[in-house]
Amino acid sequence: MCTTEGICDWCKRSALLTPHHYLDGKTHHSCQECHAFATLDVRLYNIGEKAEQERRNARQRLEIQL
Ligand SMILES: [Zn+2]
Repeated sequence: MCTTEGICDWCKRSALLTPHHYLDGKTHHSCQECHAFATLDVRLYNIGEKAEQERRNARQRLEIQL
């Protein structure tokens, strides 16, 4: 786990940060205190993003068939 110092994206306080990667390429950083919450937050976002991608792909497949 690599850590850098900066401002936490969740609580906006200066701390040692851990990066969290979103499926759409964004990266947010959280401090130790927000880490569990941030992990959950990013996971939920990525689940939503994945579902959206699958919906798009399914629609494209349907359009090809029609
Ligand atoms: Zn924080």
